[in-house]
Amino acid sequence: MPTAAKAEVVYLKGVGPKRAEAFGKLGIKYVSDLLNIYPRDYLIRTNICDLKSFIDKNVLIIAEIVDRQQPRKPNHPLKIILRDNTGSFTCLIWGNYFYRERQFNTGDKFLFWIKVSRNPYDKSLNFDYRDHKRYESSDDELLKYPVIPLYILPTELKKTWIKPLTLTKIVFNAIKKESKSIEEILPASLLGKYKLTDHKSAVLRLHYPLKLSDTDSSRQTLAFEELFFLQLILALKKYNIKSSVSGISFENIGERLEKLFKEYLNFELTDAQKRVIRELRSDMKESKPMNRLLQGDVGSGKTIVAIFAMLIAIENGYQCAFMCPTEILAEQHYKVLKSYFDKLGVKTSLLVGGQKKKLREQILQDIRLHNTDVITGTHALIQDNVEFKKLGFIVIDEQHKFGVMQRARLKEKSIGNNLNPDVLVMTATPIPRTLSLTIYGDLDVSVIDELPKNRKPVKTAIRTESDRLNVYKFIRDEIKNGRQAYIVYPIIEESEKLDIKSAIKHYEILKMEIFPDLIIGLVHGKLFWYEIDETIEDFKNKKIDILVTTTVIEVGIDIPNATVMLIEEAQRFGLSQLHQLRGRVGRGAEQSYCILMTDDRLSDESKLRLNTMVETTDGFKISEIDMSIRGPGEFFGTKQSGELKFTAADLTKDKNLLLQAREAAFKIVDDDPHLRDKSNESIHKYFINNYKDSLKLINIA
Ligand code: ADP
Ligand code: MG
Repeated sequence: MPTAAKAEVVYLKGVGPKRAEAFGKLGIKYVSDLLNIYPRDYLIRTNICDLKSFIDKNVLIIAEIVDRQQPRKPNHPLKIILRDNTGSFTCLIWGNYFYRERQFNTGDKFLFWIKVSRNPYDKSLNFDYRDHKRYESSDDELLKYPVIPLYILPTELKKTWIKPLTLTKIVFNAIKKESKSIEEILPASLLGKYKLTDHKSAVLRLHYPLKLSDTDSSRQTLAFEELFFLQLILALKKYNIKSSVSGISFENIGERLEKLFKEYLNFELTDAQKRVIRELRSDMKESKPMNRLLQGDVGSGKTIVAIFAMLIAIENGYQCAFMCPTEILAEQHYKVLKSYFDKLGVKTSLLVGGQKKKLREQILQDIRLHNTDVITGTHALIQDNVEFKKLGFIVIDEQHKFGVMQRARLKEKSIGNNLNPDVLVMTATPIPRTLSLTIYGDLDVSVIDELPKNRKPVKTAIRTESDRLNVYKFIRDEIKNGRQAYIVYPIIEESEKLDIKSAIKHYEILKMEIFPDLIIGLVHGKLFWYEIDETIEDFKNKKIDILVTTTVIEVGIDIPNATVMLIEEAQRFGLSQLHQLRGRVGRGAEQSYCILMTDDRLSDESKLRLNTMVETTDGFKISEIDMSIRGPGEFFGTKQSGELKFTAADLTKDKNLLLQAREAAFKIVDDDPHLRDKSNESIHKYFINNYKDSLKLINIA
């Protein structure tokens, strides 16, 4: 059946080319798109004599102007008397004098959005004017509803003179036009099982509820649908991976594993590390490709676990790739891997941007000819000219910095040779379960939930300017005892240059005035990575006492002898970032300290963030709190400003809904992986129409 061409918003009553352009910028092209924007609030439809029962509520009335009083001065409000057939009241209108003058004429009829309140002193009623729209007979239909929706009004639309009630009317027109063609999505069996409403009523009742509780059930259904399709993508992806037959079975264990374990490890693995290594081993043995997420808090010892897994792949004759988000981390990891692998006779290479051409070509050739076994690098690894002879195992560190696409690209490198490599994704950013099921839902999960036994929790304290000298003395004492310290200055995106200057400026002050007798190093994001790396190496080799830095130090740097992390203007950092920064200390047996320097005056939110840091070192707890403060969108840096279409699902609240949606989606893929069944027809259709791009991803993975 050919689908009718979709109507564009430009032809909708009240829109026109200018406004259509503004809508377009907000991702709204078709009339049907307007059905997907969600009301941010509702007005209660009432009349004048009932206003007193709606104290502190927003209401919509329709009234005629029966009189008006000119203000004595242009900056005073215009006074208008409004009447409907139940009563009348007086209302003040502020704002541009000439504009108001011409707008509100006696005898005219308007829809008014009014906020009712009670004067705390004389208990009289106040009627705050919020917005108005000239009455047209076509409004009658809308006015029949008991509550009327209001929508977020992004600047883009305000620029075209759309006001709240105008937008309400535009969306109303859209609903009227499209409501007949809203198609069902989920089969009745699912609706019944999870107590959901059908899609059409959910949409209609969300915009125009008959009673306020309708909005809850509507939102519930729409959120379920969103989560369901997300989980469906993940379920299909997982199915695709599992059902492909070409996975590698790493049968051999080899002798070197034992050797590494017995001879070259100067510590005892934690039980959690041992357990995860067992999980990896049994996954790798299977002929299905492994896709596993390794979660472990900062300092929990993920690297050594990855080394064990890579060694198994190497014993079976395969190459390994280890992908890191930055050059500094690649370099740092490369050194750690090399130190273990050299002893075992395994060849390692580093591939990053900015290497000399000749060196680079040599490395590329080594990779192509399998003269090297373990290749550590940045996203340089996924460039076209990198060809592996026999890539069988992939480690991706700090995954959240990479997109799903990049993960898929690296895998492609071996699909070229008809191999389907095992993938281990590692992240130190603890993610709340709801989120990990959303972004990593196609992966199996291993968790290192235990820190090495020699660790003491980092002691954390908040300090202000008046404590500064004591703080410096404390640092000096630690250094006297042979330890080292980090001092971190914030970078704020908009004024990055300025803040780097601040790190540089303070570096000078610290060096010349505060600690003239100590050796101070400086790193920041405007240096070349190898310059940063050199300084970090000096710090590691104790040639530097204090490392002054910006957040370039945030992830992955491992220097156990550093025991003090002083964070300047700590209130300017996000919680996860503070946690990552603190994770740079407490990596050895010595007691470590994290000092959060702040202003005396802090917002409640900053207080919550800093106190959380003092109260707990548990990364999972911190991430839950972080997400509840920032909301999941911002948590992932995906939130766009002024976005009109936002999603019904709220991952901070919809945990149960997510679990249900996941259960439903995985069951459907289990029973009918190609969605061919008649009962899944509507799901299939909706999926094809709305998730085309995700399908591409599934094919690659
Ligand atoms: P992360 O999980 O943050 O990546 P690393 O793998 O960098 O942590 O390990 C942090 C430090 O802890 C490293 O110096 C590593 O050698 C050390 N380490 C790892 N496992 C143990 C252990 N079981 N006991 C003691 N130290 C360990
Ligand atoms: Mg690490």
